[in-house]
Amino acid sequence: MVDIKAIARETQKTIKLYLEDPYMKELKCKMINVYWEKGGKAYLTLNKTIFHPRSGGQDCDLGWIQNPEYKFQILKVLDVEDVVVHYCKLQYGDSGRIKANSDVKCILDWDRRYKNMKLHTAGHILDYAVAKVYGRLVETVSANHSPPNAYLEYKANPPTNEMLKTIIEEANNIVRENREVKWIWVEYEKLTEIAFNAPNLARLPKSERYRVVIIDGVNGIPCTGTHVSKTGEIGEIIVTGIEPSTMGFKLHYNTN
Ligand SMILES: [Zn+2]
Repeated sequence: MVDIKAIARETQKTIKLYLEDPYMKELKCKMINVYWEKGGKAYLTLNKTIFHPRSGGQDCDLGWIQNPEYKFQILKVLDVEDVVVHYCKLQYGDSGRIKANSDVKCILDWDRRYKNMKLHTAGHILDYAVAKVYGRLVETVSANHSPPNAYLEYKANPPTNEMLKTIIEEANNIVRENREVKWIWVEYEKLTEIAFNAPNLARLPKSERYRVVIIDGVNGIPCTGTHVSKTGEIGEIIVTGIEPSTMGFKLHYNTN
């Protein structure tokens, strides 16, 4: 049994390139080490990665890590204390000849990632639209920004049909306006000033610095997910259902 926490302890922190350029689809880098499990499965560590781990309500990326001698298919990506661990299955190659510190190429399953980017950005826009219609910040208590069931759970009474109609209109206005989406890194002291209309500040873990994702004129939300660079890329935000929950309600949504 591979101890992932032990892997993280002995490995340098991974450079997370998906935080700097979410449109990077391929990357040449070093595979630092490979930890084998039974059945041709293994945990791989890299010096840098384009693969987003499962976190912040966004499902992990998938893809391939390969070189001319072998090819791994990614099954899962985890972030353990800032070390990104890629759980993979060997598709071809001789496991006995796969060495640590080798040159590899990463290839991202871009269709899956781009859908996650659209859904994730749509989630921020829906936070804004919900706050606008309720006339106050509405806390987001849980979220899933990945298919097949993207949703946001809000701490509030479910909206009336009229309110829901306005939420959908407001959200899609932001999409049509094709606003810029950018991010900045800030220290804690600056956070409340930069993270405007953020419904999730209370849930933030303590950190030295925070990445705040800003949709121009809409909101600034601390987030380490991947987003589109212009809201127009989302196409259309569709609300697929409203479901009462113990904390308030779940808004199920999709993009088209
Ligand atoms: Zn986000």
